[in-house]
Amino acid sequence: MSIVLIVAESQPDGHLRKATLHAIAAGKELAQKTGAPLHLAVLAENPSALAEQLKPYGAVVIHTVASPAFAHYVAESYAPAVAALASSIGADFVGAAATAQGRDLLPRVAARLKAAMASDVLAFSGSGTDVTFTRPMWAGSVIADVKLKTSVKALTIRATEFSAAEPGGGPAEVKAFPAPADVASSPTQFVSFNEVKSARPELTEASIVVSGGRGTKGDFKEIEALADELGAAVGASRAVCDAGWVPNDYQVGQTGKVVAPKLYIAAGISGAIQHLAGMKGSKVIVAINKDPEAPIFQVADYGIVADLFKVLPELRAAIHASKSS
Ligand SMILES: Cc1cc2nc3c(=O)[nH]c(=O)nc-3n(C[C@H](O)[C@H](O)[C@H](O)COP(=O)(O)OP(=O)(O)OC[C@H]3O[C@@H](n4cnc5c(N)ncnc54)[C@H](O)[C@@H]3O)c2cc1C
Repeated sequence: MSIVLIVAESQPDGHLRKATLHAIAAGKELAQKTGAPLHLAVLAENPSALAEQLKPYGAVVIHTVASPAFAHYVAESYAPAVAALASSIGADFVGAAATAQGRDLLPRVAARLKAAMASDVLAFSGSGTDVTFTRPMWAGSVIADVKLKTSVKALTIRATEFSAAEPGGGPAEVKAFPAPADVASSPTQFVSFNEVKSARPELTEASIVVSGGRGTKGDFKEIEALADELGAAVGASRAVCDAGWVPNDYQVGQTGKVVAPKLYIAAGISGAIQHLAGMKGSKVIVAINKDPEAPIFQVADYGIVADLFKVLPELRAAIHASKSS
């Protein structure tokens, strides 16, 4: 019988990453289409708390793999363990959210399993093992339908295309899977993690994102002030990151982060295809740009043709006033 195995991901503080719930929803849909049960994998130093959090989400089995080597994500330790688990249970589909970790891990798992892979999957069609995966190519300019011809298939799932799984269904059975012996002696060892501390929400987890582009000329004060008024994350176009005006981890787009918040405010961003690839799934898009012909207006729900340095303070003052009234 075929099995859909989704690898769960936790944040450095040990909490489940939100994207995992979206990957589970995708896994459920794939399981329904293929008639396969949904299994989850949790790798951690002590995975029991994470397994407990995942129990109500409708998986049949949660496989826990415990090892001190999993205290921090290291691809060289995780990949052999996920591949060994997938082989041992006979999983036909092995997937994870297309986060930085999922994108790093799944190709390595696919190579070990000699599995064909679909990256950034947006949707599934077909049934049984003859499933078609829909995925973006060329920064989202082309949407391709691909079939994977190997018996084991690997995939990363674009979290923003699937709603988060809701609790429901019987509690999953939790099974311990032994970590392969060579995991602890991996030649790549974790040394340190230098977290960038921010009081703002993480870009990919935030429900509001305020982003700035080259139109800011590097002055992000008003972008940050509006973000703080709204409890939002700060994003940026690549032009701004490449100029060194803001840190690289603010970058939204094809080569940055993919976000789909409830509200995305783009100020001084032209709307190049590579930027749109990272934010066009946002529920409501507000664009502020001096140029009425800027392509960002083609995807915006609300467009303001004006100078961002005039609009942002007014917007912030109006939001502040509406909060206190
Ligand atoms: C392989 C590849 C990958 C890429 N990946 C990414 C990616 O991940 N993310 C990304 O963002 N880009 C990416 N790019 C770059 C992308 O093509 C664009 O160059 C970039 O997005 C442009 O950034 P921008 O909109 O800030 O700047 P610009 O295109 O220069 O636009 C600035 C905008 O600000 C407006 N403006 C100027 N002053 C004001 C003002 N005072 N008030 C209001 N509006 C004002 C202008 O009218 C203009 O529309 C990639 C490119 C390549 C080739």
